[in-house]
Amino acid sequence: MEEMSQVKGNRLDPWLDSYATRAHGLRASETRSLFAVASRPEVVSLAGGMPNLKDLPLDRIADATAEMIRKDGGKALQYGNGQGLPRLREHVTEVMALEGIDAGADDVIITTGSQQAVDIVTELFIDPGDVILAEAPTYVGSLSIFSTYQADVQHVAIDAHGVIPEALEEAILRTKREGRTIKFFYCLPNFHNPAGVTLSEERRPLVIDICRRHHILIVEDNPYGLLGFEGQTYTALKTLAPDDVIYLGSFSKIFAPGYRVGWAVAPPAVKEKMKLASEAAILCPSSVGQYSISMYLEQFDWKKQIGEFRTMYRERRDTMVGALEEYLPVCRWNVPDGGFYVWVGLPEGIDAREMLPRAVTNLVAYVSGTAFYAGGKAGQDHLRLSFCYPEPVDIREGVRRLSQVISRDLEN
Ligand code: PMP
Repeated sequence: MEEMSQVKGNRLDPWLDSYATRAHGLRASETRSLFAVASRPEVVSLAGGMPNLKDLPLDRIADATAEMIRKDGGKALQYGNGQGLPRLREHVTEVMALEGIDAGADDVIITTGSQQAVDIVTELFIDPGDVILAEAPTYVGSLSIFSTYQADVQHVAIDAHGVIPEALEEAILRTKREGRTIKFFYCLPNFHNPAGVTLSEERRPLVIDICRRHHILIVEDNPYGLLGFEGQTYTALKTLAPDDVIYLGSFSKIFAPGYRVGWAVAPPAVKEKMKLASEAAILCPSSVGQYSISMYLEQFDWKKQIGEFRTMYRERRDTMVGALEEYLPVCRWNVPDGGFYVWVGLPEGIDAREMLPRAVTNLVAYVSGTAFYAGGKAGQDHLRLSFCYPEPVDIREGVRRLSQVISRDLEN
């Protein structure tokens, strides 16, 4: 291999010159490269956003799945409908109804996680150089997709109540003045990843109004909406403006991510395009995944299960916030009322990305705030801590270890 690369231009990858331009931007995200280190057993990882599946009734799910395969295996193991299994799309409408979203089964398109939905939407709308507006910070996984399609991500400031409407309008006007084309506003209204905040009810109509006036599509990414710790839900942007919003949902956080099943609800013409793009890419979403989830929704008390998830995550949130108060009073943070994440502001002079290797040496991992900004150009003054996966005792220990690293850095 080494020899071959020498022959073909003295590079490690002999095919370097053959890649499409967009492939050159593909790099392991900061989170991905952390995975290997953070998964060592001695490291307390407050980095990953893996849902905690310990309360799922695995034996019963295994039995019911075996039964489902015996009964429906001929279809569950076969190719299926490109838009998704009709029976599951029907169920998705019931899930969305919990947040007050009114959609029919034919409005729904099933995707391979909401990640694929973001990918399709970006593929459909973005030519290289087109602008995507996104909150500052925003979900790292979507940033990777945006970068692949060579979008220019313009960040819009948020505060404790979500995106700031004036900042959104300002960003739109500035970008338009520069003669750039804005294709959509990618928004995480509920229990934001990574910022933990929720867009206030008051701001939602304002955001819609601004985007409407400037004819900007909204992509509403909502994987955490049913994980409000008091069982509270918020009015979906989709409900307020069905024709202006592509709504994305997912079973990853309310059931299990391993099935890789999510969904989208888009304005009718966009839905048709999304379906064609999805069929072109993957033919159809996983049939066995869709049959399994339909089976789960029909035979299990999934609403009760979501309630149990909420209780578990609330306890972990409380543990993390308690530990932050005890060990890290030098930092600032929000107290999220749902979801998985606390966004921690660091004391002046500490750089989250630069500190990470020392944290890992001290056996604790987090994600540097820079991961959540396009090109890693900001966010060094924050880090994201996840409380979803570790046991409470480990959350405390992780925050304690982090406080040691920060204290040492402050002394130097
Ligand atoms: N959007 C956000 C905001 C997320 O946090 C995640 C997962 N971490 C996804 C989308 C992708 O989820 P999935 O593909 O598992 O549905």
